[in-house]
Amino acid sequence: MNWTERDKQTLWHPFTQMKTALAPIHIEKAQGAYLYASDGRVFIDAIASWWVNIHGHGHPLIAKKIAEQAAQLDHVLFAGFTHTPAIALAEGLLSVLPHHFDKIFYSDNGSTAVEVALKMALQYFYNRGQKHKTRIIAFENAYHGDTFGAMSAGGRNLFNAPFQELLFDVVHIPIPNGENTEGVLQQFETIAAAGDVAAFIFEPLVQGSAGMLMYEAEPLDALLAIAKAHHIICIADEVMTGFGRTGKMFACNYLTQLPDIICLSKGITGGFLPLGVTACTATIYNAFYDNDLTKAFFHGHSYTANPISCAAAVASLEILRGVDCQKQIDQIVEQHAVFCQKVKTHTFVKAVRQRGTILAIELKTTESTSYTNSIKAAAQAFFIDNGVLIRPLGNIIYLMPPYCISVQDLEKVYGVIERALDFLYEKTSNRGF
Ligand code: PMP
Repeated sequence: MNWTERDKQTLWHPFTQMKTALAPIHIEKAQGAYLYASDGRVFIDAIASWWVNIHGHGHPLIAKKIAEQAAQLDHVLFAGFTHTPAIALAEGLLSVLPHHFDKIFYSDNGSTAVEVALKMALQYFYNRGQKHKTRIIAFENAYHGDTFGAMSAGGRNLFNAPFQELLFDVVHIPIPNGENTEGVLQQFETIAAAGDVAAFIFEPLVQGSAGMLMYEAEPLDALLAIAKAHHIICIADEVMTGFGRTGKMFACNYLTQLPDIICLSKGITGGFLPLGVTACTATIYNAFYDNDLTKAFFHGHSYTANPISCAAAVASLEILRGVDCQKQIDQIVEQHAVFCQKVKTHTFVKAVRQRGTILAIELKTTESTSYTNSIKAAAQAFFIDNGVLIRPLGNIIYLMPPYCISVQDLEKVYGVIERALDFLYEKTSNRGF
Protein backbone atom coordinates (compact mmCIF):
# COMPACT_ATOMS: atom_id res chain seq x y z
CA MET A 1 0.00 0.00 0.00
CA ASN A 2 1.25 3.49 -0.75
CA TRP A 3 0.93 6.33 1.76
CA THR A 4 -2.33 7.64 0.17
CA GLU A 5 -4.02 4.29 0.74
CA ARG A 6 -2.55 3.92 4.21
CA ASP A 7 -3.73 7.42 5.12
CA LYS A 8 -7.21 6.76 3.75
CA GLN A 9 -7.46 3.49 5.66
CA THR A 10 -6.48 4.88 9.03
CA LEU A 11 -6.85 8.64 9.32
CA TRP A 12 -9.51 11.26 9.85
CA HIS A 13 -8.27 14.79 9.03
CA PRO A 14 -9.44 18.03 10.69
CA PHE A 15 -11.86 20.41 8.96
CA THR A 16 -12.18 17.92 6.12
CA GLN A 17 -15.10 16.19 4.44
CA MET A 18 -13.25 12.89 4.04
CA LYS A 19 -15.52 11.64 1.27
CA THR A 20 -15.07 14.51 -1.16
CA ALA A 21 -11.68 15.96 -0.23
CA LEU A 22 -8.69 15.43 -2.50
CA ALA A 23 -6.04 13.10 -1.13
CA PRO A 24 -3.81 15.02 1.28
CA ILE A 25 -0.35 16.00 0.13
CA HIS A 26 2.36 13.92 1.74
CA ILE A 27 5.01 16.24 3.19
CA GLU A 28 8.37 14.71 3.81
CA LYS A 29 10.39 17.62 5.04
CA ALA A 30 10.15 21.35 5.72
CA GLN A 31 12.77 24.06 5.97
CA GLY A 32 12.40 27.82 6.24
CA ALA A 33 9.40 28.92 4.17
CA TYR A 34 9.34 25.69 2.16
CA LEU A 35 7.39 22.45 2.39
CA TYR A 36 8.81 19.49 0.46
CA ALA A 37 6.38 16.82 -0.76
CA SER A 38 7.44 13.22 -1.28
CA ASP A 39 6.42 13.46 -4.97
CA GLY A 40 9.07 16.15 -5.50
CA ARG A 41 6.82 19.22 -5.35
CA VAL A 42 7.90 22.21 -3.26
CA PHE A 43 5.47 24.71 -1.74
CA ILE A 44 5.99 28.12 -0.19
CA ASP A 45 4.12 28.00 3.11
CA ALA A 46 2.39 31.39 2.81
CA ILE A 47 0.18 30.82 5.87
CA ALA A 48 2.84 29.47 8.23
CA SER A 49 0.95 26.18 8.54
CA TRP A 50 -2.21 27.48 10.23
CA TRP A 51 -0.31 30.50 11.51
CA VAL A 52 2.08 28.67 13.84
CA ASN A 53 5.51 28.53 12.16
CA ILE A 54 6.35 32.17 12.67
CA HIS A 55 10.09 31.68 12.04
CA GLY A 56 9.53 29.22 9.23
CA HIS A 57 10.17 25.51 9.52
CA GLY A 58 13.02 23.75 11.24
CA HIS A 59 14.72 26.77 12.82
CA PRO A 60 18.07 25.36 14.03
CA LEU A 61 18.06 27.12 17.41
CA ILE A 62 14.62 25.77 18.35
CA ALA A 63 15.51 22.29 17.06
CA LYS A 64 18.71 22.33 19.14
CA LYS A 65 16.99 23.50 22.33
CA ILE A 66 14.32 20.84 21.93
CA ALA A 67 16.94 18.11 21.55
CA GLU A 68 18.86 19.33 24.59
CA GLN A 69 15.72 19.59 26.69
CA ALA A 70 14.49 16.14 25.63
CA ALA A 71 17.76 14.64 26.82
CA GLN A 72 17.66 16.56 30.10
CA LEU A 73 14.04 16.41 31.26
CA ASP A 74 11.25 15.23 28.98
CA HIS A 75 8.32 15.74 31.26
CA VAL A 76 7.18 15.95 34.83
CA LEU A 77 3.71 16.62 36.19
CA PHE A 78 3.24 20.30 36.97
CA ALA A 79 1.30 20.04 40.23
CA GLY A 80 3.77 19.91 43.09
CA PHE A 81 6.75 20.09 40.70
CA THR A 82 8.38 22.79 38.63
CA HIS A 83 11.30 23.18 36.20
CA THR A 84 13.55 25.76 34.60
CA PRO A 85 11.96 25.92 31.09
CA ALA A 86 8.52 26.74 32.59
CA ILE A 87 10.01 29.40 34.86
CA ALA A 88 12.24 30.87 32.14
CA LEU A 89 9.34 31.05 29.69
CA ALA A 90 7.03 32.69 32.24
CA GLU A 91 9.72 35.27 32.99
CA GLY A 92 10.31 35.86 29.28
CA LEU A 93 6.61 36.25 28.50
CA LEU A 94 5.99 38.58 31.42
CA SER A 95 8.87 40.75 30.27
CA VAL A 96 7.37 41.22 26.79
CA LEU A 97 3.70 41.37 27.79
CA PRO A 98 2.19 44.65 28.99
CA HIS A 99 3.62 45.06 32.48
CA HIS A 100 0.44 44.65 34.47
CA PHE A 101 0.32 40.92 33.73
CA ASP A 102 1.54 38.96 36.69
CA LYS A 103 0.99 35.20 36.32
CA ILE A 104 1.27 32.61 33.56
CA PHE A 105 -0.97 29.51 33.43
CA TYR A 106 0.02 26.82 30.93
CA SER A 107 -2.18 24.55 28.82
CA ASP A 108 -1.93 22.81 25.46
CA ASN A 109 -3.34 24.90 22.59
CA GLY A 110 -5.39 27.95 21.69
CA SER A 111 -8.73 26.41 22.61
CA THR A 112 -7.55 25.36 26.06
CA ALA A 113 -5.94 28.77 26.62
CA VAL A 114 -9.41 30.23 25.98
CA GLU A 115 -11.17 27.65 28.18
CA VAL A 116 -8.79 28.53 31.00
CA ALA A 117 -9.42 32.25 30.49
CA LEU A 118 -13.21 31.84 30.60
CA LYS A 119 -13.06 29.61 33.66
CA MET A 120 -10.67 31.99 35.43
CA ALA A 121 -13.00 34.92 34.78
CA LEU A 122 -16.09 33.04 35.95
CA GLN A 123 -14.43 31.60 39.04
CA TYR A 124 -12.94 34.99 39.89
CA PHE A 125 -16.46 36.28 40.59
CA TYR A 126 -17.56 32.98 42.16
CA ASN A 127 -14.67 33.11 44.63
CA ARG A 128 -15.56 36.69 45.51
CA GLY A 129 -19.17 35.73 46.23
CA GLN A 130 -20.52 37.58 43.16
CA LYS A 131 -22.19 34.47 41.80
CA HIS A 132 -24.63 36.42 39.62
CA LYS A 133 -21.74 37.48 37.32
CA THR A 134 -21.92 34.65 34.77
CA ARG A 135 -22.62 36.23 31.39
CA ILE A 136 -20.07 36.47 28.63
CA ILE A 137 -19.96 39.06 25.84
CA ALA A 138 -18.18 38.25 22.58
CA PHE A 139 -18.12 39.51 19.03
CA GLU A 140 -20.30 38.18 16.23
CA ASN A 141 -18.31 35.90 13.89
CA ALA A 142 -15.68 35.36 16.58
CA TYR A 143 -13.60 32.21 16.57
CA HIS A 144 -12.00 31.11 19.83
CA GLY A 145 -11.48 27.40 19.26
CA ASP A 146 -13.27 24.07 18.99
CA THR A 147 -13.80 22.97 22.59
CA PHE A 148 -17.23 23.62 24.11
CA GLY A 149 -16.48 26.81 26.04
CA ALA A 150 -14.50 28.26 23.15
CA MET A 151 -17.26 27.27 20.70
CA SER A 152 -19.84 28.94 22.95
CA ALA A 153 -17.87 32.18 22.89
CA GLY A 154 -17.52 31.91 19.12
CA GLY A 155 -20.05 33.08 16.56
CA ARG A 156 -22.75 30.59 15.65
CA ASN A 157 -21.99 29.07 12.25
CA LEU A 158 -21.76 25.87 10.26
CA PHE A 159 -18.82 24.61 12.31
CA ASN A 160 -20.79 24.50 15.53
CA ALA A 161 -24.35 24.04 14.18
CA PRO A 162 -24.65 20.39 15.40
CA PHE A 163 -23.91 21.51 18.97
CA GLN A 164 -25.86 24.73 19.13
CA GLU A 165 -28.40 23.54 21.67
CA LEU A 166 -25.59 22.57 23.99
CA LEU A 167 -23.56 25.75 23.83
CA PHE A 168 -23.94 28.16 26.72
CA ASP A 169 -25.55 31.48 26.08
CA VAL A 170 -23.23 34.29 25.06
CA VAL A 171 -24.22 37.80 24.02
CA HIS A 172 -22.73 38.51 20.62
CA ILE A 173 -22.25 42.09 19.48
CA PRO A 174 -20.98 43.35 16.11
CA ILE A 175 -17.37 44.49 15.77
CA PRO A 176 -17.22 48.29 15.74
CA ASN A 177 -16.48 49.31 12.14
CA GLY A 178 -16.68 53.07 12.25
CA GLU A 179 -20.19 53.31 10.85
CA ASN A 180 -21.81 51.30 13.63
CA THR A 181 -19.45 52.27 16.47
CA GLU A 182 -21.87 54.55 18.34
CA GLY A 183 -24.54 51.86 18.30
CA VAL A 184 -22.18 49.10 19.38
CA LEU A 185 -20.89 51.16 22.31
CA GLN A 186 -24.47 51.91 23.32
CA GLN A 187 -25.43 48.24 23.07
CA PHE A 188 -22.40 47.25 25.15
CA GLU A 189 -23.23 49.82 27.79
CA THR A 190 -26.82 48.53 28.05
CA ILE A 191 -25.74 44.89 28.38
CA ALA A 192 -23.02 45.78 30.87
CA ALA A 193 -25.41 47.86 32.98
CA ALA A 194 -27.45 44.75 33.84
CA GLY A 195 -24.60 43.88 36.21
CA ASP A 196 -24.42 40.16 35.45
CA VAL A 197 -21.58 40.18 32.91
CA ALA A 198 -18.41 38.39 33.98
CA ALA A 199 -16.24 38.76 30.90
CA PHE A 200 -15.81 40.24 27.47
CA ILE A 201 -13.69 38.11 25.11
CA PHE A 202 -12.37 39.41 21.80
CA GLU A 203 -9.80 38.85 19.09
CA PRO A 204 -8.02 42.22 19.14
CA LEU A 205 -7.96 44.11 15.81
CA VAL A 206 -8.24 41.04 13.55
CA GLN A 207 -10.92 38.34 13.57
CA GLY A 208 -8.93 35.57 11.95
CA SER A 209 -11.14 32.64 11.06
CA ALA A 210 -14.06 34.99 10.30
CA GLY A 211 -12.09 36.05 7.21
CA MET A 212 -9.39 38.34 8.58
CA LEU A 213 -11.98 40.99 9.46
CA MET A 214 -10.19 44.02 10.80
CA TYR A 215 -11.21 46.85 13.07
CA GLU A 216 -9.48 49.73 14.80
CA ALA A 217 -7.92 50.04 18.23
CA GLU A 218 -9.85 53.17 19.17
CA PRO A 219 -13.37 51.71 19.35
CA LEU A 220 -11.99 48.60 21.07
CA ASP A 221 -10.42 50.87 23.67
CA ALA A 222 -13.82 52.51 24.14
CA LEU A 223 -15.45 49.09 24.68
CA LEU A 224 -12.76 48.09 27.17
CA ALA A 225 -13.28 51.35 29.07
CA ILE A 226 -16.99 50.58 29.43
CA ALA A 227 -16.19 47.01 30.49
CA LYS A 228 -13.78 48.22 33.15
CA ALA A 229 -16.29 50.74 34.49
CA HIS A 230 -18.70 47.82 35.02
CA HIS A 231 -16.09 45.50 36.51
CA ILE A 232 -16.16 43.12 33.54
CA ILE A 233 -13.03 41.06 32.95
CA CYS A 234 -11.51 41.72 29.52
CA ILE A 235 -10.02 38.69 27.78
CA ALA A 236 -7.83 39.28 24.73
CA ASP A 237 -7.60 36.18 22.57
CA GLU A 238 -4.20 36.75 20.96
CA VAL A 239 -3.83 33.14 19.88
CA MET A 240 -3.49 34.33 16.28
CA THR A 241 -2.38 37.95 16.69
CA GLY A 242 0.37 37.33 19.26
CA PHE A 243 4.12 37.22 18.66
CA GLY A 244 4.56 39.90 16.02
CA ARG A 245 1.73 39.04 13.63
CA THR A 246 0.19 42.50 13.66
CA GLY A 247 3.56 44.25 13.35
CA LYS A 248 3.91 44.73 17.11
CA MET A 249 4.63 41.98 19.63
CA PHE A 250 0.94 41.81 20.61
CA ALA A 251 -2.14 43.42 19.11
CA CYS A 252 -2.79 44.77 22.62
CA ASN A 253 0.25 46.98 22.17
CA TYR A 254 -1.97 49.12 19.90
CA LEU A 255 -4.40 49.69 22.80
CA THR A 256 -4.34 52.10 25.69
CA GLN A 257 -6.82 50.06 27.78
CA LEU A 258 -5.30 46.73 28.70
CA PRO A 259 -7.02 43.36 29.02
CA ASP A 260 -7.03 41.50 32.34
CA ILE A 261 -6.38 38.14 30.72
CA ILE A 262 -4.56 37.28 27.51
CA CYS A 263 -4.59 33.95 25.62
CA LEU A 264 -1.55 32.86 23.62
CA SER A 265 -0.65 29.80 21.57
CA LYS A 266 0.04 29.15 17.84
CA GLY A 267 3.36 31.00 17.26
CA ILE A 268 4.52 30.53 20.84
CA THR A 269 6.84 27.57 20.13
CA GLY A 270 7.64 28.71 16.59
CA GLY A 271 5.37 25.94 15.34
CA PHE A 272 7.39 23.06 16.76
CA LEU A 273 5.17 21.86 19.60
CA PRO A 274 1.74 22.53 21.06
CA LEU A 275 1.51 24.92 24.00
CA GLY A 276 -1.12 27.29 25.35
CA VAL A 277 -0.71 30.19 27.75
CA THR A 278 -3.25 32.18 29.72
CA ALA A 279 -1.69 35.21 31.41
CA CYS A 280 -3.55 37.20 34.04
CA THR A 281 -3.15 40.18 36.35
CA ALA A 282 -2.44 39.99 40.07
CA THR A 283 -6.03 41.07 40.75
CA ILE A 284 -7.37 37.92 39.10
CA TYR A 285 -4.75 35.69 40.70
CA ASN A 286 -5.41 37.09 44.16
CA ALA A 287 -9.08 36.02 44.05
CA PHE A 288 -7.83 32.41 44.00
CA TYR A 289 -4.96 32.87 46.48
CA ASP A 290 -6.41 31.74 49.77
CA ASN A 291 -6.12 29.31 52.67
CA ASP A 292 -9.39 27.84 51.44
CA LEU A 293 -8.69 24.92 49.09
CA THR A 294 -12.02 25.32 47.32
CA LYS A 295 -10.88 28.68 45.96
CA ALA A 296 -8.05 27.03 44.00
CA PHE A 297 -8.20 26.87 40.22
CA PHE A 298 -8.93 23.19 39.62
CA HIS A 299 -7.84 23.02 36.03
CA GLY A 300 -4.90 21.21 34.48
CA HIS A 301 -3.86 18.96 31.62
CA SER A 302 -1.50 16.01 31.69
CA TYR A 303 1.00 17.87 29.55
CA THR A 304 0.70 21.22 31.33
CA ALA A 305 4.01 23.12 31.02
CA ASN A 306 5.70 20.31 29.14
CA PRO A 307 9.42 21.15 29.49
CA ILE A 308 10.22 20.47 25.83
CA SER A 309 7.40 22.75 24.63
CA CYS A 310 8.51 25.42 27.10
CA ALA A 311 12.15 25.13 25.93
CA ALA A 312 11.01 25.53 22.32
CA ALA A 313 9.01 28.62 23.32
CA VAL A 314 11.97 30.16 25.17
CA ALA A 315 14.07 29.72 22.01
CA SER A 316 11.31 31.09 19.78
CA LEU A 317 10.98 34.16 21.99
CA GLU A 318 14.75 34.71 21.83
CA ILE A 319 14.59 34.69 18.01
CA LEU A 320 11.56 36.96 18.01
CA ARG A 321 13.29 39.52 20.22
CA GLY A 322 16.36 39.64 17.98
CA VAL A 323 16.80 42.65 15.66
CA ASP A 324 16.81 40.41 12.58
CA CYS A 325 13.31 39.16 13.24
CA GLN A 326 11.87 42.64 13.73
CA LYS A 327 13.54 43.66 10.45
CA GLN A 328 11.93 40.69 8.70
CA ILE A 329 8.53 41.65 10.12
CA ASP A 330 8.97 45.27 9.02
CA GLN A 331 10.01 44.09 5.55
CA ILE A 332 6.85 41.99 5.17
CA VAL A 333 4.69 44.87 6.41
CA GLU A 334 6.23 47.16 3.80
CA GLN A 335 5.97 44.68 0.95
CA HIS A 336 2.34 43.91 1.83
CA ALA A 337 1.51 47.62 1.80
CA VAL A 338 2.90 48.04 -1.71
CA PHE A 339 1.09 44.94 -2.97
CA CYS A 340 -2.19 46.11 -1.37
CA GLN A 341 -2.09 49.27 -3.48
CA LYS A 342 -1.44 47.26 -6.61
CA VAL A 343 -3.96 44.49 -6.12
CA LYS A 344 -6.89 46.59 -4.94
CA THR A 345 -7.52 47.84 -8.47
CA HIS A 346 -8.07 44.33 -9.87
CA THR A 347 -11.60 43.87 -11.26
CA PHE A 348 -12.18 40.80 -9.12
CA VAL A 349 -11.13 42.43 -5.84
CA LYS A 350 -13.81 43.79 -3.55
CA ALA A 351 -11.59 44.87 -0.66
CA VAL A 352 -8.02 44.57 0.57
CA ARG A 353 -7.07 44.62 4.24
CA GLN A 354 -3.75 44.65 6.03
CA ARG A 355 -2.68 44.63 9.64
CA GLY A 356 1.03 44.06 10.05
CA THR A 357 2.07 40.80 8.38
CA ILE A 358 -1.55 39.77 7.78
CA LEU A 359 -2.92 40.55 4.33
CA ALA A 360 -6.45 39.70 3.17
CA ILE A 361 -8.00 40.05 -0.27
CA GLU A 362 -11.77 39.75 -0.52
CA LEU A 363 -13.08 38.62 -3.89
CA LYS A 364 -16.18 39.97 -5.61
CA THR A 365 -18.26 36.83 -5.64
CA THR A 366 -22.01 36.65 -5.79
CA GLU A 367 -22.06 33.80 -3.31
CA SER A 368 -21.96 34.46 0.42
CA THR A 369 -18.61 35.04 2.04
CA SER A 370 -18.91 31.84 4.02
CA TYR A 371 -16.41 29.04 4.29
CA THR A 372 -18.49 26.99 1.87
CA ASN A 373 -18.06 29.46 -0.97
CA SER A 374 -17.16 27.29 -3.94
CA ILE A 375 -14.41 29.60 -5.12
CA LYS A 376 -12.36 28.45 -2.13
CA ALA A 377 -11.61 25.04 -3.62
CA ALA A 378 -10.79 26.42 -7.07
CA ALA A 379 -8.48 29.06 -5.59
CA GLN A 380 -6.76 26.62 -3.28
CA ALA A 381 -6.13 24.17 -6.12
CA PHE A 382 -4.69 26.97 -8.26
CA PHE A 383 -2.29 27.98 -5.49
CA ILE A 384 -1.15 24.41 -4.91
CA ASP A 385 -0.65 23.88 -8.66
CA ASN A 386 1.54 26.98 -8.59
CA GLY A 387 3.66 25.94 -5.63
CA VAL A 388 2.08 28.02 -2.88
CA LEU A 389 0.20 26.93 0.23
CA ILE A 390 -2.70 29.34 0.69
CA ARG A 391 -6.06 28.20 2.11
CA PRO A 392 -8.69 30.86 1.40
CA LEU A 393 -11.44 31.42 3.95
CA GLY A 394 -14.41 31.30 1.57
CA ASN A 395 -13.87 34.17 -0.86
CA ILE A 396 -11.09 35.67 1.22
CA ILE A 397 -7.53 34.98 0.17
CA TYR A 398 -5.09 35.77 2.94
CA LEU A 399 -1.39 35.66 3.63
CA MET A 400 0.29 35.10 6.98
CA PRO A 401 3.81 34.19 5.94
CA PRO A 402 6.60 32.99 8.20
CA TYR A 403 8.79 35.96 9.10
CA CYS A 404 11.81 34.34 7.41
CA ILE A 405 10.21 34.46 3.95
CA SER A 406 12.59 36.12 1.47
CA VAL A 407 11.70 39.28 -0.44
CA GLN A 408 11.81 37.26 -3.67
CA ASP A 409 9.57 34.48 -2.39
CA LEU A 410 7.00 36.94 -1.12
CA GLU A 411 7.02 38.67 -4.53
CA LYS A 412 6.57 35.25 -6.11
CA VAL A 413 3.53 34.63 -3.89
CA TYR A 414 2.05 37.98 -4.90
CA GLY A 415 2.60 37.06 -8.56
CA VAL A 416 0.76 33.77 -8.08
CA ILE A 417 -2.11 35.62 -6.38
CA GLU A 418 -2.37 38.04 -9.32
CA ARG A 419 -2.49 35.16 -11.76
CA ALA A 420 -5.06 33.41 -9.55
CA LEU A 421 -7.25 36.52 -9.62
CA ASP A 422 -7.19 36.58 -13.43
CA PHE A 423 -7.88 32.86 -13.62
CA LEU A 424 -10.68 32.92 -11.06
CA TYR A 425 -12.26 36.03 -12.55
CA GLU A 426 -12.39 34.39 -15.94
CA LYS A 427 -13.76 31.18 -14.48
CA THR A 428 -16.40 33.13 -12.56
CA SER A 429 -17.48 35.11 -15.60
CA ASN A 430 -17.81 31.91 -17.63
CA ARG A 431 -19.48 29.66 -15.11
CA GLY A 432 -20.47 31.79 -12.18
CA PHE A 433 -19.56 30.99 -8.61
N1 PMP B 1 -8.37 31.62 19.15
C1 PMP B 1 -8.09 32.13 17.96
C2 PMP B 1 -8.17 33.61 17.75
C3 PMP B 1 -7.72 31.29 16.90
O1 PMP B 1 -7.45 31.81 15.70
C4 PMP B 1 -7.64 29.90 17.13
C5 PMP B 1 -7.24 28.91 16.05
N2 PMP B 1 -7.38 29.29 14.76
C6 PMP B 1 -7.94 29.41 18.41
C7 PMP B 1 -8.29 30.30 19.41
C8 PMP B 1 -7.89 27.95 18.70
O2 PMP B 1 -6.57 27.51 18.74
P1 PMP B 1 -6.23 25.96 18.58
O3 PMP B 1 -6.54 25.60 17.17
O4 PMP B 1 -4.77 25.88 18.89
O5 PMP B 1 -7.06 25.23 19.56
